[in-house]
Amino acid sequence: MQATIYTKFFLAALFLKSLIESVLEKRNLNHILKNKEVVPAKFSTQISLADHQKAANYSAEKIKVNQYFHFFDLVIFLAFTLGGGLEMLNLKALSFGKSEILTGLIFFGLLGIITSLLSLPQSLYFTFVIEEKYDFNKTTLKTFIADRLKGAALAIVLGGPIAYGILWIMEKLGNFWWLYAFIFLAVIQLLLVFIYPTFIAPLFNKFSPLEEGEVKEKILNLLNRCGFKSSGLFVMDASKRSGHGNAYFTGFGNNKRIVFYDTLINSLDSEEVEAVLAHELGHMKKKHILKGMIKGFIMSFLGFALIGYLKNNNLFMQGHGIQSITNYTVLTIFSMVAGVYTFFLTPLSAYFSRKYEYEADEFASQNAKASKLISALVKMYKDNASSLTPDPLYSKFYFSHPPALERVSYLEKFN
Ligand SMILES: [Zn+2]
Repeated sequence: MQATIYTKFFLAALFLKSLIESVLEKRNLNHILKNKEVVPAKFSTQISLADHQKAANYSAEKIKVNQYFHFFDLVIFLAFTLGGGLEMLNLKALSFGKSEILTGLIFFGLLGIITSLLSLPQSLYFTFVIEEKYDFNKTTLKTFIADRLKGAALAIVLGGPIAYGILWIMEKLGNFWWLYAFIFLAVIQLLLVFIYPTFIAPLFNKFSPLEEGEVKEKILNLLNRCGFKSSGLFVMDASKRSGHGNAYFTGFGNNKRIVFYDTLINSLDSEEVEAVLAHELGHMKKKHILKGMIKGFIMSFLGFALIGYLKNNNLFMQGHGIQSITNYTVLTIFSMVAGVYTFFLTPLSAYFSRKYEYEADEFASQNAKASKLISALVKMYKDNASSLTPDPLYSKFYFSHPPALERVSYLEKFN
């Protein structure tokens, strides 16, 4: 076998990634179980020992099951790449005897069908066994199947033309194809941000205007105080699928909507909802959403530039298991293995994300009551059965939000 240097590098990175993942998971599991018997002092008045133990059991069970699924995913991943799975799929796609672009679309289609079938057991197990056991699951089998079918239809209707566009650009636009492909995809992404709230999200959930009353009054006042305009306040029927609560913004410019999960509205009082929204407004005001988008575009630009550079490097492609180098196999192998290398950047992006969370909390404390944000967070930790005692190293590596104790201690400074 040729291309051993690249293969060795790839396998070393994959091994290191798997090692870090399993060591951290193990640490997290031990830490949660070790702290299972006592509610942390800060939360002892609001969270009962029974709830604390429920959270510990729920987290522990998810971690244990994930160990098996991670191993399964690793085997599948190796089978697709170095194992020659993508090569076999390519032969199948070629057997239809179509042009290169159409062969590429057939290849993507086959790959999509296989990967979604392979992810089915995992998704079924989490929804109908674990979430069910802890009373979070509200999804019926009918909703589950409908979601899958709608997802597949969306992948064909949206993903098909986008894939066609990129393959066409690669074939027709010469050496700088990667630059045009980046621009093409960036424009599509911006377009999707605009159409998502009005056309895509309603396919999966019902959105109804927030009812008149105390909550709405508080929110309108808050928006006014912060000088913020939105094109509507909506409640989403999240309870149709699960008991987990949340609030978020969608769209931007004049098409900006504020969406509350009905689960959130039902469990928080009006001042708590106000504090949660103030936190989300903080993300807007401190330009975190814009920064996130710019970061996404920079990553995408670098990714395309790298594919443009490596596309004709046969040794690199062969080193990752691709013998038949075509535009679509290059795109596929690149998107599959990129995660192995970018994994090592996880702590960095988690760090920045936590920094943004603190900034948004600070904003929330200036524009609403910090004590109400704390009580809202505690309710959400409780309702979501989030562990209050994750392993410190684990949370440093992965957490996009500060762990419960640190976050509440930070907010208490504003009281
Ligand atoms: Zn946040």
